[in-house]
Amino acid sequence: MTMVDMIADPLDEQRKEFVQLAREFAEKEIAPYAAEWDRRKEFPREVIRRLGELGFLGLLVSEDLGGLGLDALTYLMMMEEIAAADASVSITLSVHNSLPSYVLQRYGTPEQHERWLKPMARGELLAAFCVSEPDSGSDLASVSTTATRTESTWVINGTKAWVTNGGVADVLLILVRTSKQAEKPSRGLSFFIVPADADGVQASKPEDKMGLRSSRTTQIVLDDVRLGADCLIGQEGMGFRYAMEGLDRGRLSVAAQAVGIARAALDHARRYAAERKQFNKPIKDFQGVSFMLADMATRLAAARSLVHDTARAEERGEGITQRASMAKLFASETAMFVANHAVQIFGGYGYMKDYPVERLLRDAKVTEIYEGTSEIQRVIIGRGLFSETDQRRG
Ligand SMILES: Cc1cc2nc3c(=O)[nH]c(=O)nc-3n(C[C@H](O)[C@H](O)[C@H](O)COP(=O)(O)OP(=O)(O)OC[C@H]3O[C@@H](n4cnc5c(N)ncnc54)[C@H](O)[C@@H]3O)c2cc1C
Repeated sequence: MTMVDMIADPLDEQRKEFVQLAREFAEKEIAPYAAEWDRRKEFPREVIRRLGELGFLGLLVSEDLGGLGLDALTYLMMMEEIAAADASVSITLSVHNSLPSYVLQRYGTPEQHERWLKPMARGELLAAFCVSEPDSGSDLASVSTTATRTESTWVINGTKAWVTNGGVADVLLILVRTSKQAEKPSRGLSFFIVPADADGVQASKPEDKMGLRSSRTTQIVLDDVRLGADCLIGQEGMGFRYAMEGLDRGRLSVAAQAVGIARAALDHARRYAAERKQFNKPIKDFQGVSFMLADMATRLAAARSLVHDTARAEERGEGITQRASMAKLFASETAMFVANHAVQIFGGYGYMKDYPVERLLRDAKVTEIYEGTSEIQRVIIGRGLFSETDQRRG
């Protein structure tokens, strides 16, 4: 069984077709160009457009709302395929599918579904999820961007940080403070949907990142942005809860991304170890190298199992907060472990930009940071061990 075959879970034929579609598109249309996009920091707009046409921007949206209505497991397996080819493309899809689309589908009105979600699912609009701020990362309840109610509008002011798809998204889901008097800071937050070209919305210049260099990341500055009441998503004051629910899905999606990165790194390392000779034999024949590969393969398989297990729990309607954190924590640390060892197996060549493992190591790092750092995942998991509700749900 090859590493690629290890993705073969018992899936029905239709699910298999979707995963196969993702794999073929990734192998033909993404993987051959990923290094060049990374080098040029080029957002592959045309590829995202084509993925949109194929339904990849509405993977989890129900069919009556214009999406493909896939189950969590199929979606995550498709994310692994895309990430194995290019983690930058996968995060563009991951954010769009698992965060704004989720919150809108769950809490949007029929009018908001019509105006925003359906075009998003059809691939006509790309979305971004704007919760972090320069001074609010792990502590999301401290968000300070404000929405102030006037007679007929809301007026938004503030700055959002590190927005994936910033500057290329058509629509922004933004977490803002609508009340400073709420009993807890987290209860004073609400979500708004904002067209990226609304007056007063400005994307900053793209961040110059260590990895994911062809994914676009910017600040979004909101300066007296005026919105109608129809831009408020769900109930006022519930934004923090909606964000946490979305992030459960987002974290699982990042975990699948990390599995994809790790799989690609292992695959490169395995092939290189069979080809590269030192002391007149392939380096795979040295136990030191084969043990590295064995550890890499074992961790990868365990990370994938956690991701799939959590997807099945979601399909059964169980709470996934703790499991999603476990999957994200373990898979992201696995991606770093496997990519780091892959560079080691490549030796000096691994340190050169001519070989893919260098990019994979840079890309792997961010999976330990975004959508909650590894420390925050440990906080959630640790807290869940002492909470009866979470234990039942986890
Ligand atoms: C490439 C990229 C893309 C991103 N995309 C998006 C996006 O699309 N939308 C969005 O809203 N945000 C996005 N982010 C932001 C990301 O989610 C935050 O960077 C992340 O949540 C961490 O916040 P911070 O950077 O402010 O770090 P901080 O919260 O300042 O943390 C700094 C350090 O302190 C540790 N720490 C903080 N609190 C605790 C605690 N309670 N216990 C233990 N340790 C703690 C952290 O683990 C970390 O090591 C992105 C970030 C990056 C790098």
